[in-house]
Amino acid sequence: MSGRHQQVVIMFGPPGAGKGTQSSILADKLGIPHLSTGAMFRHHISNATELGREAKSYLDKGQLVPDDITVGMLAERIKQDDCAAGFILDGFPRTVFQAKTLDNLLNVRNVPATNVHVVALVVPDDVIIQRQSGRRVAHKSGKIYHLEHNPPKIAGVCDVSGEPLVQRDDDKPEVVTARLKVYHAQTEPLLEHYKGSGTVITVDGTQPMDAVTAEIINKLEQ
Ligand code: AMP
Repeated sequence: MSGRHQQVVIMFGPPGAGKGTQSSILADKLGIPHLSTGAMFRHHISNATELGREAKSYLDKGQLVPDDITVGMLAERIKQDDCAAGFILDGFPRTVFQAKTLDNLLNVRNVPATNVHVVALVVPDDVIIQRQSGRRVAHKSGKIYHLEHNPPKIAGVCDVSGEPLVQRDDDKPEVVTARLKVYHAQTEPLLEHYKGSGTVITVDGTQPMDAVTAEIINKLEQ
C-alpha cells in the first residue's frame, strides 16, 4: 500500500465471512478507523433513534436498509476527523447504487483509485451457516466469540466485561439464510464493478483467523 494519500479498504464478503474481525485487526495495524454500517445501525436501534426505528424492521428480516438511509449515514460518518487518513469499510457498499455513491464520495476527497483496496473474503455458504449458528456477542465490550472456534474462558460470559453473551437476532438460522440470498443477489455482483476499476485482493476466508490476517497484510503490501 502506498503512503501519503488516504487509504480506503473495502472488506467484501458474505455475512459471517470474518469482515468484522479482520477489519478491527487491520484498523489497529493501519491506524485508521473501522466503519461498520451494521454496527452503526445496531447502535441507532439500541439508542432508539429515529434512524434506528426506520432501520430495525430491515435488520430483523435480514434485508438491506434502503440506500438513501444507509448512504446518508455513511457520508456523515466519513466527514468526521478520525477519517482524515482513510478508513476501513465493513459491510458497505452492498448495492450498485452504494458503490457508485462511494466512488463519488472518494472522488470528492481526492482518493486515488490505487489507494482503494477491496479485500474479498471467500467463504462458502455451508461454512457460513455453521459459523453463524455458533456466534455469540457481548454488546457492551463489542467482543465476538464462537462456541467452538473462539469460546470465552467461562461459558456464556464475556472475558472482558463479564456480561452475558447473546446471539444476535440476525445470526439465527432463518435470518442467516435470508442474508445469504440478499448477498448473492445484490452484493456479490459488485465485485465486477471493482474488478474493473480498483485493486481486488481475494483471500480464502476459511483459514484460521491469523492466517487470514497474514494473507491480507501480505497481499496489501505487494
Ligand atoms: P452486518 O453487521 O454488516 O452484517 O449488517 C447487519 C444488517 O444491517 C444487514 O443485514 C442489513 O440489514 C443492515 N446493513 C448493514 N450495512 C448495510 C448496507 N450497506 N446497506 C443496507 N443495509 C445494511
